[in-house]
Amino acid sequence: MAGMAKPRRQAPARAAEPRSITTLQAALAVFLTFASPRMLAIQLVVALGIRPIFGPPGLGDLLIVAAVAIYWPLQEWFLHRYVLHMRPRELLGLRIDPIAARYHRAHHREPWRLEYVFLPGRMIVAMIPAHVALWLWLAPSHALALTGIAAFGGAALFYEWIHYLTHTFYRPRSAYYREIWRGHRLHHFKNERYWYGFTVPLVDRLLGTAPDPGSVPNSETCATLGIDD
Ligand SMILES: [Zn+2]
Ligand SMILES: [Zn+2]
Repeated sequence: MAGMAKPRRQAPARAAEPRSITTLQAALAVFLTFASPRMLAIQLVVALGIRPIFGPPGLGDLLIVAAVAIYWPLQEWFLHRYVLHMRPRELLGLRIDPIAARYHRAHHREPWRLEYVFLPGRMIVAMIPAHVALWLWLAPSHALALTGIAAFGGAALFYEWIHYLTHTFYRPRSAYYREIWRGHRLHHFKNERYWYGFTVPLVDRLLGTAPDPGSVPNSETCATLGIDD
């Protein structure tokens, strides 16, 4: 995708300071001021609200939710590794530098600036209709399409929430969240070539990107990803 050199801000002019966010309640209040979480939350509430009109859930719904639960964490890892960390390149005279990659570089440069933590709002505006259309086209019934929209959209919202939470000063209380929090901080401040998972640490272990931190050199390109913007 060719385009602008700098990501635009999507947040309110005075975004909250991550240091001031130490409780889940405070975190949620700030989370819902950002465009991407808001739109994803609306999509989820609408899909879940309409779904009962088409009858009770069955085995098909369960299979869709299970498939999304398996697919989503793998997608996170692959998109993070190969799209968000992609180097800009030229193809037929066009600069290929996806908006998500530009935002992610801004996020690595300024990890405490919350507006760069979230997926770009204008990307979500474009993706929600495509996402809805894809499920309506792929699913054998409207009921299953709505379940798919809720499951996949819900996974996207959960990803936004967990990633954002690791960039606040809310202290981990569960072993699950502590592992995510630690891995993501290592990704930002130790070596950006490891710890690509956002919501399921098992994926990094399976794909060989969760080494013993002591065995990995400190990277000098954690903030820039080795790209001059
Ligand atoms: Zn991050
Ligand atoms: Zn990254």
